[in-house]
Amino acid sequence: MRRPIIAGNWKMNNTIAETRKLINELKPLVKDAKCDVVICTPFTSLAAAIEETKGTNIKVGAQNVHWAEKGAFTGEISAKMLLELGVEYVIIGHSERRQYFGETDQSVNARVKAALAASLKVILCIGETLDEREKGLIEEVLVRQTTEALKGIDKAQLEDIIIAYEPVWAIGTGKTATSKDANDSIKIVRDTVAKLYDEEAAQKIRIQYGGSMNPSNASELMAMPEIDGGLIGGASLKAEDFAKVVNY
Ligand code: PEP
Repeated sequence: MRRPIIAGNWKMNNTIAETRKLINELKPLVKDAKCDVVICTPFTSLAAAIEETKGTNIKVGAQNVHWAEKGAFTGEISAKMLLELGVEYVIIGHSERRQYFGETDQSVNARVKAALAASLKVILCIGETLDEREKGLIEEVLVRQTTEALKGIDKAQLEDIIIAYEPVWAIGTGKTATSKDANDSIKIVRDTVAKLYDEEAAQKIRIQYGGSMNPSNASELMAMPEIDGGLIGGASLKAEDFAKVVNY
C-alpha cells in the first residue's frame, strides 16, 4: 500500500509573518491526517516554517534547488543550503519553472540528482500543455519527461522521489482533469517507471495529481487507484481548504 501524500505549493505567496500565521491555523486542522503532509514555502519562509512545524506532522519543502554544490550562480540556492535549514522536500520541474524560467528536461534531471545526493526528497513535476493534449501527445510527453528526469537515477533512489502529474492547463485555472483522465495519465507514468526499472519500483513510487485540486474534488480524485496524493497550489493558501484536502 502506498501512503498518500498531500503537498501544498505556496508559490510566491506568504511573508514570514503570514507563514507563521497560516501554519498555526493549519496545525490543529491536520494533526490527525492519515497521509503525509508537506508545505512548500518560498525560500525566505523556510526557516520560520521549520520552526513552526517542529514536533508536528507537517513537513517542509522548498520549490526549487540548483544542481551545483556552490559557485557563481547568482540568485540560486543549493541542496546543502536547504538541508542545513532542515528542509526535507523540494519541488523540481514545476511547469511554471519550465514555462517562465527556461527549465528543461536536462536541467530538471540535474536538479533531481543534486537533491537526491543531499538526501532531500524530491517532488518531480511533469505534465502536458493544452496544445500537447489537443495534438494527442499526452503519452509521448509524459514518457519523455519521466525518462529524462530519471536518467542516471538508480532504483534505490526512487524511494526519495514522488512524481506529481500536473496537466499544465489545469494549474491555477479552476479546470481539473476528470478523475478518470488523471488516473489514466498517472498509469502511463507508472508504466514508464516499470519499463525504466521494474514492476516493483512502479508499484512503490507515489504519484500525485496536481491541477486545481480543492476540497470539492479531492475525495473523487483520491479514490482513483493510481492517484497517491495531490500537489495543491491555490487551495493550499487557506488553512481550512488545505486541511479539507488533507483530510479528504
Ligand atoms: C501547482 O501549483 O502545483 C498547482 C497544482 O496549482 P493549483 O492547485 O492552483 O492549480
